[in-house]
Amino acid sequence: WEKQFLPPPLQLDDKARAIKVESRLSGLVLCGATLKRVAEVFAHEIENGLRQKPSSLQMENTYVPELPDGTEEGVFLALDLGGTNFRVLYLELCGGELVREDVKHYHISDELRLGPGEDLFNFLADCVLDFLRSEGMEKDELSLGFTFSFPMKQHSISSGELITWTKSFKCGGMAGVDVAALLQRCLNDRGLKVTVQVLLNDTTGTLVAGAHLDPEVAIGVILGTGSNGCYMERADRVVHWESSYERVHDVCVDIEWGAFGDNGCLNFLRTDFDEEVDRNSLLATSFTFEKYIGGKYLGDLLCAVLGGLARDGLFPATPVWGELQSAHVSMFEEENSVGDWEQTAEALCEACGGALISRADAFVAQHVARVISNRAAQLVSVCIATLLRRMNRNHTAVAVDGSVFKRHPRIRNLMNKYIALLAPKDKFTLLGAEDGSGKGSALTAAIAARVAARST
Ligand code: BGC
Ligand code: MG
Repeated sequence: WEKQFLPPPLQLDDKARAIKVESRLSGLVLCGATLKRVAEVFAHEIENGLRQKPSSLQMENTYVPELPDGTEEGVFLALDLGGTNFRVLYLELCGGELVREDVKHYHISDELRLGPGEDLFNFLADCVLDFLRSEGMEKDELSLGFTFSFPMKQHSISSGELITWTKSFKCGGMAGVDVAALLQRCLNDRGLKVTVQVLLNDTTGTLVAGAHLDPEVAIGVILGTGSNGCYMERADRVVHWESSYERVHDVCVDIEWGAFGDNGCLNFLRTDFDEEVDRNSLLATSFTFEKYIGGKYLGDLLCAVLGGLARDGLFPATPVWGELQSAHVSMFEEENSVGDWEQTAEALCEACGGALISRADAFVAQHVARVISNRAAQLVSVCIATLLRRMNRNHTAVAVDGSVFKRHPRIRNLMNKYIALLAPKDKFTLLGAEDGSGKGSALTAAIAARVAARST
């Protein structure tokens, strides 16, 4: 059992160098016993979070009252904010199926990501106006689902305040501001007849979109720029509840596992490389777990480790900070799987300002990519395995989306392997659920409309 968690050994002609590299990386290699310990801490933090006791897990109510039943109808706008791109979508649902989808991508400048929140939201509303004009729909009455992929304190399915920015956003003046209300005001200011009907997280959208494909879906996971998960919790275990409708069925809880360990409960995992990634991040000392997993940070981690090896004379140069991205991690892994090294060496040479990179150096970097990918897959698998055990169903489908899940060549296989090792009795399937932020948002808006119609 233990052996199956280990990455394959680094093979170099220079055996002494291989041993030294592996020993320098040993803090990043987690054994099964350590992962079990992480799982225990995670389960404990989930309980505390649900009971409103101190916990690094927020366990936020999403107020999504039920999952799709195939009757979802209507036309919707969706906004997707939080990852690499900002998107405005027009979606038409008929009998639960998506029959039309128009999308436009907008670039959000660093100035907007880091400036006053008002400016950002005015920009979002400008994009909606631009989109509706290009569709010839600026006069139409439309309801909108706002996928806001940040931690929120939600009070209902259509309201909530930002708790903290994450990833590459850090706008000022947002404390205590209801993001749905702010968006609504900016839309009204432009004379648009658009109503913000639901406010949701991307994991929720992924779960809902996944549940439309497979009724056994009960967990939604994002493995992209950031990482997070949500799941269907038994209504009687959810202590905090602000909405007027009764909790009869299971309810969707947004865990916000990116912040797991921010209270120190996971300090035993932390390496000096992680400290360096955190120190250089936009939001230091927060969302430390996300920095082990998220695509925004895997390139930085690769850079930090290679820099550490360079300081010990085990790598020829230190890559320039910011020059390596998660796409490099994927590419190194890809080349490694077929035994090649030329592209890896070329990319490293570029990232190290033209330094000479040998075949052995490329193999070292590929090994680093493998070790950090392995750890990311293991940690996200711990979370999923813990949820499977907690839910204790016959079979659970897990809807997963995000750039790392879609583009990393090995992550899916690794997750299948590690989840099975960590939750051997629980049957599961990983289901790629495309575009939870778009389609899931429209489905959720349709569900909210259905529930509202029923209760009036
Ligand atoms: C946010 C989550 C989100 C995740 C994936 C995290 O940084 O806090 O709300 O689900 O990224 O986008
Ligand atoms: Mg996204």
